[in-house]
Amino acid sequence: NALVKAATSEKREIEYPRKADGKPKYPSEIYGENVFTLKTMAKALPKPIFSSFLKQRRGRQNLDKTTADSIAHAVRVWAMDRGATHYTHWFQPQTGATAEKHDAFLSLITSFTPGGEEVTPIDQFSGSQLLQSEPDASSFPSGGMRTTFEARGYTIWDTSSSMFVQRGPNGTSILYIPSVFISYNGDALDEKTGLLRSNEVLSRAASELVNLLEPEAHVAHVYTTLGTEQEFFLVDRTMYALRPDLKITGRTLVGQLPPRHQQLEDHYFGRIPSRVMRTISELELECLRLGIPIKTRHNEVAPAQFEVAPIFEEASVAVDHNLLTMDVLHKVAHRHNLRVLYHEKPFKGVNGSGKHCNWAVATDRGENLLDPTVRPETNFRFLLFLLAVLRALQEHAPLLRVAISSSSNEHRLGAQEAPPGIISAFLGDQLNEVLNAIEEDRPIKNFSVPQFQSIKVGGTVLDVKVSALPHIARDLTDRNRTSPFAFTGNKFEFRAVGSKQSPSFPVTVLNCAVTAAITEIVGELRAQMGSKSYPSDEDKLAVIRKFIKLTKPVRFEGDNYSAEWVAEAAKRGLPNIKSAPEAFTYLVKDKHLKMLTTETGIFSRGELLSRYHILNERYAKDIIIEAETLKTIVGQQILPAALEYRKSLAESAAALKAVGVESGPETDVLNELAPLVATLQSEHKKLDQAVRKLVDEETEDSNAHAQAAYDSVAPAIASVREAADALEASVADKFWPLPKYTELLLTI
Ligand code: ADP
Ligand code: MG
Repeated sequence: NALVKAATSEKREIEYPRKADGKPKYPSEIYGENVFTLKTMAKALPKPIFSSFLKQRRGRQNLDKTTADSIAHAVRVWAMDRGATHYTHWFQPQTGATAEKHDAFLSLITSFTPGGEEVTPIDQFSGSQLLQSEPDASSFPSGGMRTTFEARGYTIWDTSSSMFVQRGPNGTSILYIPSVFISYNGDALDEKTGLLRSNEVLSRAASELVNLLEPEAHVAHVYTTLGTEQEFFLVDRTMYALRPDLKITGRTLVGQLPPRHQQLEDHYFGRIPSRVMRTISELELECLRLGIPIKTRHNEVAPAQFEVAPIFEEASVAVDHNLLTMDVLHKVAHRHNLRVLYHEKPFKGVNGSGKHCNWAVATDRGENLLDPTVRPETNFRFLLFLLAVLRALQEHAPLLRVAISSSSNEHRLGAQEAPPGIISAFLGDQLNEVLNAIEEDRPIKNFSVPQFQSIKVGGTVLDVKVSALPHIARDLTDRNRTSPFAFTGNKFEFRAVGSKQSPSFPVTVLNCAVTAAITEIVGELRAQMGSKSYPSDEDKLAVIRKFIKLTKPVRFEGDNYSAEWVAEAAKRGLPNIKSAPEAFTYLVKDKHLKMLTTETGIFSRGELLSRYHILNERYAKDIIIEAETLKTIVGQQILPAALEYRKSLAESAAALKAVGVESGPETDVLNELAPLVATLQSEHKKLDQAVRKLVDEETEDSNAHAQAAYDSVAPAIASVREAADALEASVADKFWPLPKYTELLLTI
């Protein structure tokens, strides 16, 4: 029935916005129409107020009352013109999601007159309401900070991210105020505060390096840029509703790969199914209105798997936009009777989802510092920034591993599809040769691009003119899809990041580690140049050579999925962190803790410890929820179904026997079924015991608890699944209580 409903679900077509003459509007005309941009603000505010806002924003100061009141008034009028009845401070607690609490603009003015009181309703929004509000902090994870600090939490407008309106219920809308979330003492309770701080320190360190290398540069600010490629699955919502495991845990806890899977490999870059196309197109329209520059959409490797990617933006805005995109897609998919799955591994044996984080640094003049636009062998600046990233990776790879670790991404990392737990960097042949040549002090092998490069397509050879390519041709940096951290032309691509998680912490950690590395490089340069005001080319080269040698172990150009690499990485002394709970311990190890706290000043010790507890608690909780869900599904759905099937077989055998017919096949199936049911029953019992033990033995040590979940409950979940999946293959389809992979993956 669900299948019929899914197959006949109503088609939703939306009206694309049109101009007065009836022609569709250009996307550029729609872009940002729901955003209170600087431009809109400039139009809506008196000039002195606007310039005072710009000044205070740049200096990251608190806004003064007059400015705040004027902006609040202007944005309320603007938002109410767009149907807004409420406003919300939109923030990013450490749950990976976003949070909001709505307040109405409506307020009442009560005046007491001799004749009684008079109440006047007005719509009102003050500067102080704009600047901050106080949600109930106790409902968000704080990792024990609340016991040591004041319980209150405040959301404060992040003036670097524009306010916007989104549709609310019944044709109304809501004004969103992007915010940070901090405690009474100013400790970060969220994902954003650390990211903003890390952008600041990276900017300072990187500007210093650029200005030291190029006396004429006068760079005042350096930005981190981020482009997130978001992968996800879309499944029919009716099917989804019948899978308690998907609903509760985000992944299927039982189920097998469909036999057609192999033939489905043509999905990558294939035609997008029309219902999905309508969904993504509606997503794109909403994103356009919100000023989110979605650029690409395509099918991914697995059936029912897709990707959208925006044009890169300044990192903290890009993070806001990624989270907003995920949220909007969730809502839009709903309207098309689809459900989006952001889990990193919703289907066993099917390719998982990631969120490739493309990262670079750019100056306030718009120059990408990771762009080898001139000949790289003479481009000292490019090489030093490249080496800073390698150095960051070499020193703090475990922190990057922490930043991508969760119970869900664990199913993806290390599988034969996603980068393993060893963090190394891929540079590509040409750049690799440049570094090797400098290290060995020999001429660089000639990489000059041939005038014509032949590309074989099927049986034919096409001649492609490539003479126009820059010196390091991007298309020459061969793509190594197995690397967790790859240089792709003019940016690094951090591929191990999970599809479900916020990109915020991975970028924060990367920013911090690179800041520390730049600071080290600046120190080396200063030592090398002695009393000179600026380093000579020889000084620069000496430092470059030193860091090439130092960072060599983190460079790896081969197959990251291979067993040889695991052995080789061990020889090189690179950590191979196998589980999330193991990774979490690195967050509080001296070297990394020091870098994140005293060296760069991004986090306080308390903030880091709280994050450490939140990560561990979350991990254990996820596993326990999975175990409980699986127990229920097996106990209440799968075992009863198997028993019913067995009963029907037995009845049919008995009936046949009664009329004197030999019931061989029925008896055979019955005999095959018996041990499968017995195994599932006993694994089910073991899982129950394992969870109970874990819960009973919970201690103060959150990491020990997470580790125990990994050691004892996670394997029990896998064993139950194995037994359940064996039954799925043997029980007649009409008795099976859950939609199968074929139905989930192919009904879109
Ligand atoms: P791929 O071939 O890996 O899909 P693309 O060239 O399509 O790579 O880019 C992927 C993402 O990288 C896009 O979101 C793009 O905006 C982003 N990107 C490109 N240049 C930069 C940069 N300098 N900094 C950050 N992100 C970037
Ligand atoms: Mg990519």
